[in-house]
Amino acid sequence: MKLTFATGNIGKLREASEILGEGFELVSLSQVGITEDIPETGETLTENSIQKARYLYERLGCDCFADDTGLEVDALGGAPGVYTARYAGEDKDFNKNMDKVLEELQGLEGEARRARFKSMITLIVNGEEHLFEGTLEGIISQEKSGNGGFGYDPIFIADEYPGLTLADITEEQKNDISHRGKALRAMAEWLKSQNS
Ligand code: IMP
Repeated sequence: MKLTFATGNIGKLREASEILGEGFELVSLSQVGITEDIPETGETLTENSIQKARYLYERLGCDCFADDTGLEVDALGGAPGVYTARYAGEDKDFNKNMDKVLEELQGLEGEARRARFKSMITLIVNGEEHLFEGTLEGIISQEKSGNGGFGYDPIFIADEYPGLTLADITEEQKNDISHRGKALRAMAEWLKSQNS
């Protein structure tokens, strides 16, 4: 089965291909000639993933999916949420984004720093929309740690690896527990159940 993934990120494409496994051919945006930024103007992660998947479907008319991910910090009322990529400004600077969160949580300890990553996927197959979700629970660390990963990884301590941030653990360990991994696996299971 051929599926277009609304991403230009090779890492994401590789992760999704590995999780979906044999029988699925994933195609990236550049491979279908889409070079412009797909609009993301929704107020929730779900709205954004639906918007991106519909954009692709309207342009190409083929089976496709889109994801949208955000970090929700309880003490910040769920922020940065839909603004995760550009929390500290339009330049999407990961270090500035992390510094802003750390500053806003100053003085809070332990569970008061509870947060989660959420990934939403919208899949369109035969013109029908299907939604999948994955969540990773944890707390925001007191300071940055680790060299791996990307985005907010150096300040996120998953419940599965106490004392270590996502940037301290291996890519394999992270993919096993990650929000995106869970949403992708839920989509893969559904797709496989349709074909069996
Ligand atoms: P996107 O929807 O996958 O582009 O994610 C939006 C933003 O969330 C990214 O720019 C990152 O800042 C952040 N993000 C998404 N996934 C992760 C992750 O696995 N670790 C850390 N940050 C992430």
